[in-house]
Formats: sequence, C-alpha cells, structure tokens
Amino acid sequence: MTSDSRPARPQTILTVQETEWINPHTVRLIAGGPGYAAFQDKDATDKYVKIYFTRPELGLEPPYDMAALREVLPPEDLPTTRTYTVRWSDPAAQRLAIDFVVHGNEGLAGPWAVSATPGDRLVFGDPGGQYAPDPAAERHLFVGDDSAVPAIAAALEALPADAQGDVLLEVDGPEDCISLVKPEGLRVQWLYRDGAVPGTQPLLPEAVSRLEWQAEGTQIFAHGERGAMKSLRSIFKERGVTRDQLSLSAYWALGRDELRFQAEKREPVGVIAPV
Ligand SMILES: Cc1cc2nc3c(=O)[nH]c(=O)nc-3n(C[C@H](O)[C@H](O)[C@H](O)COP(=O)(O)OP(=O)(O)OC[C@H]3O[C@@H](n4cnc5c(N)ncnc54)[C@H](O)[C@@H]3O)c2cc1C
Repeated sequence: MTSDSRPARPQTILTVQETEWINPHTVRLIAGGPGYAAFQDKDATDKYVKIYFTRPELGLEPPYDMAALREVLPPEDLPTTRTYTVRWSDPAAQRLAIDFVVHGNEGLAGPWAVSATPGDRLVFGDPGGQYAPDPAAERHLFVGDDSAVPAIAAALEALPADAQGDVLLEVDGPEDCISLVKPEGLRVQWLYRDGAVPGTQPLLPEAVSRLEWQAEGTQIFAHGERGAMKSLRSIFKERGVTRDQLSLSAYWALGRDELRFQAEKREPVGVIAPV
C-alpha cells in the first residue's frame, strides 16, 4: 500500500537484454527477466506502457511509491514517465520489445534508449491500449509517423490474410523504411520529411486527402504528432467517418515534452475533438 492507503499501481521491473538499431532513427530495446511475471499483458495491438525515469544521483529503487516520494521529494526530483508501445511481447521467453524513436538530444526517453546497454533497468506500469484490427472490417487505413510505426506494425501482423487497405507512414527518408509483415492487400506508402523537423510537415493529412477511399466499411488507426492528428480528424469528419470506426490520438506534440503534452489535453490547444 502507498503511504496514503491507496493500493500502489503495479510496476513491472525488467532488465534490458539486447539493443538494436532497426533504422537510423529508431532503437529497439528487448527487455525481460524474472520481473516479466508481473507484466499484465493485453491483446490490444497498440498496447503501451508508461516507463519510469529517475535521476540516477538520487538512487531511487523500484517499485516507486509515488505517494510516499511526493511527501519527501521536490517535484523536480520525482520519477517521471514517458509512454511507449510494446512492439511485441513473448510470454514464453519472458521478453518484450519497445522501439524508441531517437529525435536528437532533447528529452529523456530518446537519449536514454540510445545509451541503454544490457543490464540496465526498465520499469513501467500496467499497459493501456484498446485497439485491435477488426477482422470483419472491409478495409483498413493506418496513418502515422515514426512514433506510431511500432503500433501500426503490430496491427498489420494481426490482420487476417485477406485484409485490404492502405498504410501511410511518415519518416525522415528511405533509410527509415523497415520491412513490415502484412497481408498482400495492404498497400504501404512511405512519406519522407527529407530532413524537415518532425511534426512540421502536413505529409499525412495531404496523403489521406489524395487517397481514394470511402469511409463506409473502413476501420482507421491514426496516431502521431498532434498537429497532424488535428488535421486528420477534420478530414475524417468531412468524409463521414464515425467514432466507432476510428482510433485517433496524438502520441506527442511539437515543442512539448510529454508532461506538458499530457497536461495540455485539458486545455483548448490539446483537445482533438471527437468526430
Ligand atoms: C500511446 C502512445 C504510444 C507511443 N508509442 C511510442 C513508440 O512506440 N515509440 C516512440 O518512439 N514513441 C512513442 N510514443 C511517443 C512518445 O511517448 C513521445 O515521443 C515522448 O514525448 C518521447 O519522450 P522523450 O523523453 O524522448 O521526449 P520529451 O521529453 O517528451 O520531449 C522533448 C522534445 O522532443 C520532442 N519530441 C518528442 N517525441 C518526438 C518524436 N517522436 N519526434 C520528434 N520530436 C519529438 C518534443 O516535442 C519535445 O520538444 C507514444 C506515445 C503514446 C501516447
């Protein structure tokens, strides 16, 4: 129990086992170990976890009792979290993989993933996530930037062999295209920023506008930078997409760290109105 008598939120404590660059802007960490037994796996293909980051000089040991720590530490010393998709989990091997986009020196999670080595600790809370591709959908539309590639790749792997649809993915350039395991009926378009700052180009909304597709019968999964998601939401609304067809949310926002980005969901700038 935490010090204020609320049950502590369960945390999974793993050890990094392998690191691998899957393209020039994404590093995959594979983590596992005995702590995997605490992982409450989910069927959702977009399952995600909130990873804890602490200041090494404080020597905090997991599981982190946030209520107790709030009583003794100033806010800037508290553990903080970043949200990441579980790209795959393997209960038999007691391992899972997370793909981290590396977006320069800014931030906590990106730089940490670059320097992570086997033996490092990975601590996170219980997974969230709700989406899974509907095997009965006539068509699928997947739209996302680098941050959503892991969730989209996992969804493609879960589609039935006769699934149809389109996949629009924004990355920096051709060297970032990874191979995707998918049914033949899914057409993939990679859209290149060509060195532009991520989150500044309307590549995804423009590609969706150009695409020939009809809303009826299409299940949509669209995630990535907030500005692009707002534009997409308007397009989907114009096309008559209904809420039950759509999984759409921002995964990050240009110029905001995750705490600010999450806090802004309660402010007008951060709201992506439902269709
Ligand atoms: C449900 C969910 C699932 C997600 N899954 C993944 C995933 O599998 N892999 C993944 O890499 N990200 C994923 N994200 C996005 C990730 O949580 C954010 O990118 C997060 O801000 C990264 O933390 P950070 O500490 O590196 O940077 P922060 O400290 O949060 O931000 C520092 C700066 O970097 C910028 N920034 C943040 N992310 C990016 C980016 N992707 N590209 C360019 N600039 C950026 C911010 O705007 C800010 O200016 C997911 C987010 C959600 C909500």
